Amino acid sequence: MNYFTSERRLFNEDGKLVVPDDVQDAVRKIIRWAGDDPTREGLTDTPARVARAWREYCQGYEDDPGLHLSRTFEEVGGYDEIVVLKDIPFQSHCEHHMAPIQGKASIAYLPDKRVVGISKLARVLNAYAWRLQVQERLTAEVAQCIWDNLQPRGVAVVIEARHSCMTGRGVRTPDVGMVTSRVLGCFLDDPVSRKEAFWLMGRTGR
Ligand SMILES: [Zn+2]
Repeated sequence: MNYFTSERRLFNEDGKLVVPDDVQDAVRKIIRWAGDDPTREGLTDTPARVARAWREYCQGYEDDPGLHLSRTFEEVGGYDEIVVLKDIPFQSHCEHHMAPIQGKASIAYLPDKRVVGISKLARVLNAYAWRLQVQERLTAEVAQCIWDNLQPRGVAVVIEARHSCMTGRGVRTPDVGMVTSRVLGCFLDDPVSRKEAFWLMGRTGR
């Protein structure tokens, strides 16, 4: 069944998203598998809550990231320097464990005639982050979306994040942050531009 198209607009009288029985059953199975009793009082409403929370965590699937960059401004008063949005906090979930990823992204681009409202870059980030992800792909997708839609002279995206699947289980390394970056255009070709972009993002160049 495709819940996406057939069930997404069903709401109960409290205005809450209706969660199909088989989805709730799936959560009950996980609870039982984890070692608890899904029929005990404290867990009665948990399956529906979990299911609704997951639709929120994954709301990026209902978003078209490129659409946020469709309204651009061409009148920039001769500004032809790098635009940077630094340390944008985000949350995502890893596609391997469905565990939270928490991090910050910095996005830089060198416009070629067109710029966007700065909040739009954060919207692009969230449209990809609110999905099941791996950090490398998230970084690449954000950079590519800006590259394709704004056609700037260069784009650089740096993401630093902590993965709960590493900090809360497995090797349990609480303070380890993972850093990924993707550079395109002049930031890839020209070391001086790249250095400037990374410096503006608060990072030393590479
Ligand atoms: Zn993971």
